[in-house]
This record gives sequence, C-alpha cells and structure tokens, in this order.
Amino acid sequence: MSDFLNFSGKTFLVQGVANKKSVAWFIARTLEEQGARVVYAVRSEARKKTLESQLAGKSVYICDVEEEGACERLAAEVGQAGFAPLHGLVHSVAFANYSEGFKTFAETKRKDFLQATSISAFSLVELAQAFKPHLAKNASVVTIGISSLLVTPDNYGYMGPIKAALESCARFLAKSFSAGSEVRFNVLGSGPLKTSASAGIPGYLESYLYAEKLTFRKRNLDTQEVANVAAFLLSERSSGLNGTSLVVDAGLGSNYFDKEIIRLAMRPEVPKP
Ligand code: NAD
Repeated sequence: MSDFLNFSGKTFLVQGVANKKSVAWFIARTLEEQGARVVYAVRSEARKKTLESQLAGKSVYICDVEEEGACERLAAEVGQAGFAPLHGLVHSVAFANYSEGFKTFAETKRKDFLQATSISAFSLVELAQAFKPHLAKNASVVTIGISSLLVTPDNYGYMGPIKAALESCARFLAKSFSAGSEVRFNVLGSGPLKTSASAGIPGYLESYLYAEKLTFRKRNLDTQEVANVAAFLLSERSSGLNGTSLVVDAGLGSNYFDKEIIRLAMRPEVPKP
C-alpha cells in the first residue's frame, strides 16, 4: 500500500505553473513527492526566469498556447529530449481578458471570447494531439475545469461557456483516443481557489468568501486538496474513469439552502443563533 499511486519511474508533463499558488505547481509537487518525474511547460521565457529558483534543476520548456504550432514544438522538444513515453499530461491553463473590468456576458467581445477559447479550451485538443506519439498506451490527461457549469456568476462572464467547451473537448478527446489506445481524459472541476488567475476576476474576493460560506465545512478548498485528486486521476488507480468530470468543491454545489446564508439574505437583523 506504500506506493498506492505507483508513480515511481513515471514521467508527467505539467503545463501551467505561474507561481507557487498555481494549481499546476501543487500538482507537480505532489507528483514529485510521490516519486514521479515532472517536465514543466510554462508560458514564456520571462515566466521561466521568475520561476528560476523554484524550478532549479528541472526540465522547463516554453509553450505559449496562443501561438499556432506551439504545442507541436513543445511535443517535439520533449520527445527529442528522451522523456517519452509520458504517463500523463496536466493542462492547467486559462486566460480571459478582464482588463475592461466587469461586463455582462451579453457584452462579451468576439475577439476576447475567441482568444480565451483558444487558450483555455482548444489548447487541450492541440496539446493532446501533439503529444499523441509520445504518450504511454494508458496515459492519463487531466484538465482543470470549474465545479459547476450550471451556475452563472456575473463576474466570471464568458469563461463559464468556455469551461463548458473545455469539458466537452475532454470527452471528445477520450473518444478520439480510444481508437488505438487506452489514453484517458478527465476534468477536475474545482471550486474557488486563491491563485493569480482567480485574483484577476473582477470582485473575486467577495465571491471567494461567499463560496466559503456555502461549503458544508465552512472552509474553502485548499489547492493541495485539488492536487491530491489530480494525482489520483493521473494514476492507474483511476483507470475506470474516462471522459468524466470529478467535482472537488467541499460540498458547496449542494448547499444552496444553507440556513446561515438564508438568515443573512432574509433576516440579517436577527442575530446568529
Ligand atoms: P494560474 O494563474 O496560476 O495558472 C494559469 C496558468 O495559465 C498560468 O500559468 C498562465 O501562464 C497560463 N496561461 C495563460 N495563458 C497562457 C498561454 N497563452 N499559454 C500558455 N499558458 C498560459 O491560476 P490557476 O488558478 O492555477 O489556474 C489553473 C487552472 O485552474 C485554470 O484552468 C483555471 O481556470 C482553473 N481553475 C481555477 C480555479 C481558481 O479558483 N483559481 C477554480 C477552478 C478552475
């Protein structure tokens, strides 16, 4: 039981470390702690530089998924460096242009929607296809989605539909890759976390604190809890899961009728019992 995840001797590509708060950082560290080798893909040379001390001695490649052909270049470099076969890929990348502040979903500009879609959803397709020749037959691909595609947070705007596209892409990739391999694709649907991506969402702090009140345990998710589930999805222990979305939200999605929130909304003048 000591090596339950069986990661020793296995290699994973982790894409999307920006800093020590990144989901990708927690996943990579967890994989390494469990004996895996991690190859890193970061967005830019500048990012690689800021991560110099954290990633000293590691294999770090540049891949800006907004550039046509970037995933193919990355796969060729990683393949040539002798890292194949890879036992898994972590796609933990998203971008939305919130620079003009809060807008309703209906006001979304076409160029913003298309840019965010190509970076945050279609890049999974490009990454998977580029790495196809370098994957182990039973490799596992994990991408990070959101805990509910049914909610309509004002400040998340057009990223909601784009995360829906990401989930659907993962399912279709699972289907495509099933011809000739057992490569699996799963989505980890995470509740709100404290990272640089979420900090860029207008008014995020209040949403984050509200989400905490919605969890059953009244404590928001720790990014390590997300990384732990990602490690499970990347391991052979989840071999029966393919084309699924695993929600990690500390119960918040099932707690619309929390009595404390109802009290605050309906009778805030009544003291907390
Ligand atoms: P983060 O900012 O640490 O990570 C996002 C990463 O995307 C960064 O490393 C950034 O460099 C990368 N990226 C953006 N544009 C890119 C491009 N053109 N090419 C290559 N990389 C690019 O934030 P995070 O919260 O760790 O985000 C990781 C994933 O988790 C995202 O998919 C995000 O939507 C998802 N997620 C986050 C939360 C949350 O509350 N933070 C909740 C659910 C899902």
